[in-house]
Amino acid sequence: MPENIVIIGAGQAGQQAVQSLRSEGFKGAITMVGDEDYPPYQRPPLSKAYLLGSFERPRLFLKPDSFYAEAGCELLLSTSAKAIHRADRTVELTDGRLLAYDKLLLATGARVRKLKCPGADLPGIHYLKTIADVDGLQAVFQAGKRIAIVGGGYIGLEVAAVGAKRGLDVTVFEAMDRLMARAVSPQLSAFYAAEHEKAGVKLKLNTGVEGFEGGAKVERIKAGGQTYEADIVLVGIGVIPCQELAEAAGLACTDGIVVDQNARTSDPHIWSAGDCTRHTGREGQEIRLECVQNAIDQAKHAALSMTGKPKTYSEVPWFWSDQYDLKLQIAGLARPTDRLVQRGEPASRKFAVFHLRDGVVAAVEAVNAAPEYLVGKKMIAEGKRVAAETLADTAIPMKQMG
Ligand SMILES: Cc1cc2nc3c(=O)[nH]c(=O)nc-3n(C[C@H](O)[C@H](O)[C@H](O)COP(=O)(O)OP(=O)(O)OC[C@H]3O[C@@H](n4cnc5c(N)ncnc54)[C@H](O)[C@@H]3O)c2cc1C
Repeated sequence: MPENIVIIGAGQAGQQAVQSLRSEGFKGAITMVGDEDYPPYQRPPLSKAYLLGSFERPRLFLKPDSFYAEAGCELLLSTSAKAIHRADRTVELTDGRLLAYDKLLLATGARVRKLKCPGADLPGIHYLKTIADVDGLQAVFQAGKRIAIVGGGYIGLEVAAVGAKRGLDVTVFEAMDRLMARAVSPQLSAFYAAEHEKAGVKLKLNTGVEGFEGGAKVERIKAGGQTYEADIVLVGIGVIPCQELAEAAGLACTDGIVVDQNARTSDPHIWSAGDCTRHTGREGQEIRLECVQNAIDQAKHAALSMTGKPKTYSEVPWFWSDQYDLKLQIAGLARPTDRLVQRGEPASRKFAVFHLRDGVVAAVEAVNAAPEYLVGKKMIAEGKRVAAETLADTAIPMKQMG
């Protein structure tokens, strides 16, 4: 009998798994269960071009509808998985159906972290994760409106950039002392702070949010001991892995579903990929990555393992963010103790910051600097040793270093 694979979660990782299972020659049945109303779509444009209005909705979808039929994948949308019964290898859906599986992939992603302060439930406070969320925000996202953005991370800053471009009055509240503090070097934080201020965005750093006030909807935000008027609030303070199903089924979970280098969980019949997972990274550290790269690569590795061709997952993580006309591309994982080497001048709006660890390139942050990013990523993968002076010398082309 051909095997039967069930995928829970119809997102970036789920879609990739369908594609990779078929390209690896899997001939059995595939069923993918997704609790949203849409087939798998890409989320990155939601806070960028789609919110700006320069990206049409059909382009969000990762594949045309025909892909799933042609791939022989039964797509159960608007359907939630409620429980995994490992002993009899079934998945219970909220509508009462039971799906039998030989192999199961958990690709449940992550959900937004919600604020828990007074007034946090007032209408007019938005989060940004789904098409439905961005449609809700879009309805009120109008020139002249005052938007308070809670969180100076990628999502908050991308929305700030779109807001400034569309003529909203934007204020960003960030509890830490710099923007994107968990993700980028102080040089990058300072550069992006200056760019946002130049665009008219007001930045309130070291300013934790204490609560919201209003009547029928939010009208004021209280932060750093002060009160600010606001018509719209957008909260972007991170995500929490969707691991409840796995946890209830007794799978190992530690801030993410724990998987090995083949994307396999603590149950040999169950794999997991994407934002919901925690794995051991290339440098031996336990990590949970929230990016398209990890969703795609882990799903590919899960498919390889499910089809009996396991391959160790050790890809270099990469990420990007679009703010104004600035393309930020990051590869590798930085550490606070890395030696930072700047290449190019921030004033030119085209530069990079390399992270050297024991003389080896460990990470690169590139702003409008594709060669630095591409060669840097290759150097990270190869563990390339390079002198700081060489890296910093813009007279030496990147391709000579790769
Ligand atoms: C606004 C925004 C901007 C982003 N920008 C970038 C970017 O620029 N670059 C980048 O690399 N990454 C970006 N990301 C992150 C990236 O989109 C995610 O890392 C990626 O989508 C993860 O894929 P996934 O398959 O793990 O999860 P998802 O794509 O989130 O898919 C998981 C799906 O599973 C569903 N699900 C959960 N539980 C169940 C259940 N019990 N039953 C059925 N279905 C269930 C969820 O509803 C969801 O549809 C962005 C994310 C957002 C929200």
